[in-house]
Amino acid sequence: MAMIKGETGDWEIVLGLEVHAQVVSEAKLFSGAATAFGADPNTQVSLVDAAMPGMLPVINARCVEQAVRTGLGLNAKINLRSVFDRKNYFYADLPQGYQISQYKDPIVGEGEVEIDLPDGSIGRVGIERLHLEQDAGKSLHDQHPTQTYVDLNRSGVALMEIVSKPDMRSPDEAAAYLAKLRSIMRYLGTCDGNMDEGSMRCDVNVSVRRPGAQLGTRCEIKNVNSIRFVRQAIEVEARRQVEIIEGGGKIDQETRLFDPARGETRSLRSKEDAHDYRYFPDPDLLPLILTPEYVAKIRAGLPELPDARKARYVERFGLSPYDAGVLVAEKDTAEFFEAVANGRDAKQAANWVMGDLFAMLNRRGVGIAQSPIAATALGKLLDLIADGTISGRIAKDLFVAMEETGKDPAALVEERGLKQVTDTGAIEATIKAVIDANPGQVAAYKAKPTLFGWFVGQVMKSTGGKANPKVVNDLLRKALDA
Ligand code: MN
Repeated sequence: MAMIKGETGDWEIVLGLEVHAQVVSEAKLFSGAATAFGADPNTQVSLVDAAMPGMLPVINARCVEQAVRTGLGLNAKINLRSVFDRKNYFYADLPQGYQISQYKDPIVGEGEVEIDLPDGSIGRVGIERLHLEQDAGKSLHDQHPTQTYVDLNRSGVALMEIVSKPDMRSPDEAAAYLAKLRSIMRYLGTCDGNMDEGSMRCDVNVSVRRPGAQLGTRCEIKNVNSIRFVRQAIEVEARRQVEIIEGGGKIDQETRLFDPARGETRSLRSKEDAHDYRYFPDPDLLPLILTPEYVAKIRAGLPELPDARKARYVERFGLSPYDAGVLVAEKDTAEFFEAVANGRDAKQAANWVMGDLFAMLNRRGVGIAQSPIAATALGKLLDLIADGTISGRIAKDLFVAMEETGKDPAALVEERGLKQVTDTGAIEATIKAVIDANPGQVAAYKAKPTLFGWFVGQVMKSTGGKANPKVVNDLLRKALDA
């Protein structure tokens, strides 16, 4: 457990996260307006989204289905009856004067997700609830020197607010939880998880306490938009709270903002309570009633999720839980890996994907979907190693050549003459030359057999890495021990 060392002893951090995840849907929650990211301001706004008098919201069945899918993916209870409420507040970019949300009766109840921690262990985080609600518009402060503009494209877009229980105890656990949530939703196709486009935003509730003591007063850090910033925000906020308490002060429950540039959190407003919003059931919307058959049908259509896939990789492919966790985290990566691994040595496939391929993608700054080497091409490379056409050593060079040229590995082997030499006559001749040229080393080897590796290196070097390493080992052993 990660403790904070204070002047007066250790402090435990307690974290609960509220994640706003934008539902993948062509249309908004209560209108038919489009939701595409990056459209020109106010081009995706219906009369409902602009809150013109007399307009009526109509629930989008697709968004309901997506919320249920997500709930099932979070191992959560689906509530067959849920209610939309008005949450009243004033914002310049909220023309209705209220947000349609769910309060006492959310569509999804309690659940649980497994999180993969950096040390390879598994943690569990409880889900309190998931509810559907509308997003607000956006105030643009940088378009005019003295005026603020409002863009209503986002107004009415469907969000899932996913509230965790206060089960996390460190920045690592919070980061692992967010990563897992994003991974599950991407597998489900219910949220694209792109934090930099705002389609996943996170409010972090932070408090500190003596280990095992009652919960302390929490502060909520609003709208943190990357996992890295979530970690930083937790660190600085927990430290701030410890310093206040140790200095004899007390924590005021409030909403704060994280400023990454200055590495600090700042008070935004004192925390409002539920009654400040005067929630009440939206009279324009009936309670949402689902049937067990409807939920069962969605459950039957769920894809294999990351935890199940990870278990399969460990069981069927013999991968370590850590490697399996890395490979399944992104659906694209898992699919790429499986295309390489199927019918081949899966451990070797995992090593190539997580080693050379990841390093190459990192260097180019692209995702696996933009990989210049396709899964089929990497598979062919592994086949060339397996059937003895090339050595593992040459395979590394071939991989680089594939990246640079985009050519088929077999064609490159022909073109560049990289075929492995298994001709014992040729290898024996090379061995003889190496032995004859190094009488001193031969004498030293007799006293110190670990020098054998040096001879292997010399032979490989003079064959340009193309000699079959096993044949070299066998023949060299014979020659030196003769
Ligand atoms: Mn919300």
